[in-house]
Amino acid sequence: MKPAGQIDTESLLRVCPAVSRPANPGYGAAGRLTVTAGSVSFGAGQPAVIAGPCAVESWEQTLSLAQAARAAGARMLRGGAYKPRTSPHDFQGLGEEGLRILHAAGQAVGLPVVTEVMDVRLVETVAQYADMLQIGSRSMQNFPLLVEAGRSGKPVLLKRGMAATLCEWLGAAEYIALQGNLQIVLCERGIRSFAAGEYSRFTLDLNAVPALREATFLPVIADPSHATGLAARVESASRAALASGCDGLLIEIALQPETCPPRCDALQAITPETLRRIVRFIETRRESMDWLAGSACPSAPDAERSPRPRSLESSS
Ligand code: PEP
Ligand code: MN
Repeated sequence: MKPAGQIDTESLLRVCPAVSRPANPGYGAAGRLTVTAGSVSFGAGQPAVIAGPCAVESWEQTLSLAQAARAAGARMLRGGAYKPRTSPHDFQGLGEEGLRILHAAGQAVGLPVVTEVMDVRLVETVAQYADMLQIGSRSMQNFPLLVEAGRSGKPVLLKRGMAATLCEWLGAAEYIALQGNLQIVLCERGIRSFAAGEYSRFTLDLNAVPALREATFLPVIADPSHATGLAARVESASRAALASGCDGLLIEIALQPETCPPRCDALQAITPETLRRIVRFIETRRESMDWLAGSACPSAPDAERSPRPRSLESSS
């Protein structure tokens, strides 16, 4: 049996050879594929921030948040037009009208846009408006949807299922990759744990970030908004995610979350000022993060203490 915590190279080679690092030694021990959506790249150097509302609610709201995101230094605009809501009685998003608004707002401020597609029948439509398709946590193992998203030719932001193992997550990425589309960014967005609800909505699993670095060459970003569920926790979760080696962040914002709450995920929306602080942290911490550059596993000096998978040894 493999020691607990060690990457299961055999499973990776079987489940997801197209996206696993062990099966693609050309990427070396730490090299990442660069994923590009419009003007933004993930995995190419400085982490990139995606920001915007949880849901597109109106033209005015989306444009003002696009302007605020841009001014704060975000590189990509987010916003849901089709929302996965627990209750069918809750706001479900504006649909295609929301796509039009998001696209126009992105164009107005010069930011590429990412938005969720939940329905295999809508992949083509969403792809007409979006620079990147988001597959949400609840859809991570909707295999026909993954295939169709792969076929769209658009880069895909693949969020982790809230109870998905690393191998299941990479298996989902493999479905996309097998359509000839390797433009995949993985997004850790928090998993269900015993702590759910007591002080955070989910548990941001930052152990997954260096583990993914070993397991795959795909870039990895984190979503501190859905992981914490609380605006007051988003900034510290963002810093921690960056320290763990993330290639970017996905963050929900609102202009006045307290006085004018958004219709969706109001408690976790941060203000543009907080977003600006997070971006500035990225800009100023660059040198201090150089230690990540040459290592697939940020705890590299300690790695010698436990046997490394043979295929990783041969590629490093
Ligand atoms: C979202 O990003 O809007 C979202 C619904 O996230 P998740 O799928 O991670 O819950
Ligand atoms: Mn949300």
